[in-house]
Amino acid sequence: MKGESYRDFDATELYCPLCKRAVGVRKRLLLILPQGEKYDYTCAFCGTSVGDKLVTMKDKGPVVLR
Ligand SMILES: [Zn+2]
Repeated sequence: MKGESYRDFDATELYCPLCKRAVGVRKRLLLILPQGEKYDYTCAFCGTSVGDKLVTMKDKGPVVLR
């Protein structure tokens, strides 16, 4: 894991093992956990799950500076 200041990035392309190339992905809320929300990324072409991500409340909350 790297990137100390990255935010809730949205991966727009991930490698799909079925399509054998980087593909556009759909982000889908998989489940809500006490520690955050789990998102599933599926290939836009074949629907294969190509990754998932857990967005913790800490990561998720936008920091509003006043
Ligand atoms: Zn695919």
